[in-house]
Amino acid sequence: MKKVLVLEDEAGIRSFVVMNLRRGGYEPIEAGTGAEAYVQMQAHPDIKVALLDIMLPDTDGFEVCRNLRAANPKLGIIMISAKSQEMDKVTGLMTGADDYVTKPFSPVELTARVDALFRRTGGESEGQSELQHGPFLLNTKNRTLEKNGERIRLTQVEYSIMHMLMDSPGKALSREEILSTVWGKEYAGELKIVDVNIRRLRIKIEDDAANPTYITTVWGFGYKWGF
Ligand code: CA
Repeated sequence: MKKVLVLEDEAGIRSFVVMNLRRGGYEPIEAGTGAEAYVQMQAHPDIKVALLDIMLPDTDGFEVCRNLRAANPKLGIIMISAKSQEMDKVTGLMTGADDYVTKPFSPVELTARVDALFRRTGGESEGQSELQHGPFLLNTKNRTLEKNGERIRLTQVEYSIMHMLMDSPGKALSREEILSTVWGKEYAGELKIVDVNIRRLRIKIEDDAANPTYITTVWGFGYKWGF
C-alpha cells in the first residue's frame, strides 16, 4: 500500500487532497497539526511521501520538513504553499523538501507530483514503469493504458484497478482488497461499486465484455487478471 502523509489544518483542503490521493491509488494518512504528523509518522513507518502545509496552528511546515528529513533522508516531501512567493519555494527546498505545489492546485497536478516523487523515492522502481500483458501496455508514469497500441481512456479509478490487476497477473484479488486499495478503507461494505467499475472496465478493454478473458471473475471472491 502506498501511504502518503497529508499534513493540512484546513479540513476542506485536506479532504480534497485525501479524496484525490485515494483516487490515484494511494492511502492517505491525515494530520491537522505538526504534533499529529509526528505521531502518524511513528505509527506508519512505511509512509514514503509527505505533503506538508506551511501555515499550521502549532508549528510551521518548514520546521516539520526539517525534522522529518533529519529522521528519514529517503522520505519524499512536497510542501503545500498558500502563497506563490518565491521565498516559500526557496525556503522549502532549503529545508529539505523535494517539491512544492501552490494552492489552489488541481487534482491532476497533485497526483502527478506524488506519482513522480514515489517513483524517485523508490516507491515504484523505474523498471516497473510499464506493465505489459498480451495486447495491453500500462504506463504507470503517464497513467495510461494502450491495447494494440491504441489508447483506452480510463478514469482514475479504472486505471487504479487495472494497475492492481496487471501488477499481479493470475492472482485472485478480493473485492474488499480492491475497494480498500482504490477507494479507501471507509468505503468498506459498498462492494457493488467495485463490480460496477469492473463492468465498465470490461466494456472498455475486453474483446467481448460478455465473455471476459482478461478480467476474469473469481466466484464468490473477486477478480483476477487472466486465467
Ligand atoms: Ca494551513
